[in-house]
Amino acid sequence: MPPKNEVDLDPQEQALLREWRQLVTEHYVEDIKHLEGNPDIIHGFEVEHAIIAKYDTLRTEFHLRPTIVLQLGTRVMREQFDEHMVHMRPVIRIVGLDEMYRRRIDSLRMRDRNKVVSLTVKINHVFPAYGWVQLAVYECRDCGDSAEIKQRRARERESPVRCETCMAKFLERLENGDDNLPFRPPRPNFVMSTEHSNYEDVQDLSICQVVLNEDNHVLHTSVKDDLIATVSDDLVGEVEVGMFARINGIVRVQPFPHRTFSKDTRRVLALDVLSIEPIDVEEM
Ligand SMILES: [Zn+2]
Repeated sequence: MPPKNEVDLDPQEQALLREWRQLVTEHYVEDIKHLEGNPDIIHGFEVEHAIIAKYDTLRTEFHLRPTIVLQLGTRVMREQFDEHMVHMRPVIRIVGLDEMYRRRIDSLRMRDRNKVVSLTVKINHVFPAYGWVQLAVYECRDCGDSAEIKQRRARERESPVRCETCMAKFLERLENGDDNLPFRPPRPNFVMSTEHSNYEDVQDLSICQVVLNEDNHVLHTSVKDDLIATVSDDLVGEVEVGMFARINGIVRVQPFPHRTFSKDTRRVLALDVLSIEPIDVEEM
């Protein structure tokens, strides 16, 4: 789904855009100016949660609809990057989450899906990076028209159920009483265009709960309750096994990994990582 035009946003979303613009101009313009000339393609831009919390709508909506808040924030950040001649793609990394977001891995449940949490963990394992198709562009082999379908990670790829153009042609012929009309409506006949589709780089991490005391001494590491956390973009390749970190992310419910048939409906919890804050710990 392409981003909505500003006029299609609901009043709450428009308030979010306004507050994001205010937040960035009041707190981050200097940081953005310093990025000019940076040759990287992607930039993970850290935004303090304490600053988000100063704006009423942003604070509440980050709690309730974090994905929308980040989408709109990214739009504002992109405008600001353009305005200051920064040619990188911004990815907002919200750091320094409030204590109220702290959770333990073993306390997470299915009802926490889509909630923001902050976990204190050790990285157990880092899986190889892979790319997935975020937005698939299909071309109709019969008429050449294209259709876009937003995909979901770790799900089977979805393709269009019919070509609207071919369907419209069929209906027109039907209306005109065309004698050579085929008996059935046209079947979908699509091919995915690898050139026009959008890909995202991601990497899965296996993380486990650690308990630290106030001096960052490790009191306990629980290898038993591990969770798969997925990082994307600038964080791919940045995480090392054995690292301790606060990982902030959104809880997701994913299909069971390594399932062998598509009707397997088992689900597991997973985490989409918003940001990673390394912790210097002393192991006892
Ligand atoms: Zn067609």
